[in-house]
Amino acid sequence: MVCVRCGGKAFYTRRYSGEVLCGPCFQASIVEKTRKTISRYGMLRHGEKVGVAVSGGKDSLSLLHVLHALNGTRRYQLVVLTVDEGVEGYREESMEHSAALTRELGLEHVIVSYKELYGFDLDHALAWKDEREVSSCSMCGVFRRRAIDEAAVRAGVSVIATAHNLDDYVQTFMMNLMHGDVERLGWIDPRVVDTDFPLHRVKPFMEIYEEEVALYAHLSGLPFQSASCPYMHEGLRSEVRDYLNELEAKHPGMKNVLLSSALQVSSRISASKGPSPVPCTLCGQPSSGGLCNVCRMKQLVEQHTKYTPD
Ligand SMILES: [Zn+2]
Ligand SMILES: [Zn+2]
Repeated sequence: MVCVRCGGKAFYTRRYSGEVLCGPCFQASIVEKTRKTISRYGMLRHGEKVGVAVSGGKDSLSLLHVLHALNGTRRYQLVVLTVDEGVEGYREESMEHSAALTRELGLEHVIVSYKELYGFDLDHALAWKDEREVSSCSMCGVFRRRAIDEAAVRAGVSVIATAHNLDDYVQTFMMNLMHGDVERLGWIDPRVVDTDFPLHRVKPFMEIYEEEVALYAHLSGLPFQSASCPYMHEGLRSEVRDYLNELEAKHPGMKNVLLSSALQVSSRISASKGPSPVPCTLCGQPSSGGLCNVCRMKQLVEQHTKYTPD
């Protein structure tokens, strides 16, 4: 097999397009694709200070690597943002991978921890098992979102890039369909800039297949943590992931079609926006009324774990 771009020895066939590529041309194609996504949706502006949310998994390390590669012309000022959720025996490895790549690229690294922000770590927050009203992942997601915002404020950035890929996008869309959550279908529209939140979030990998992000990480020699979080119980999401992968195997390009459909639906829903958020009565951050999600979850944890500061 011969690479269609350089005539070198190819090793990878992009099934949905038929392109046959060698390693370096594949890597270049991912960088190029990311650049096009960023410009298509106007995600980042020239000279802008950009916070890259890096957990130390393959997706976020690849995103950092790609944005840095794109930065040959000093387009953006990158700052790495990492949240330490506090999961003993699991989080240390990925924290090290994040720090190592950040050092290698000579970037600033802002790290915030749940412990420091909320007074407890994730191990503590999830210590109550029986009567939990929310899943581990949705609770952790609420805390992590706020923590990344906090890291971004400390870093002085106005935009946060996260590593959600095309598969994440389509899975989230389908999960919202399955939960009957029509309002949320509008949330994935990348063109929507929510003026109620000071920090804009962008997803430069939203048009790249998860397997291609993994391949990019592998070819770039990025050491990443492959074990998943011990608290992760994906249930429905992993069924949706398997189903989408089966569909894609039988019908190459299906995920691209689903993304395009999802984006069209979400842009129509987001156009008819619901009520504007109001400040949380406790912390002042945007909420749909009364307490924001973070304050609600914090209260739940404090009630159930009889939290006492040390
Ligand atoms: Zn090539
Ligand atoms: Zn609040």
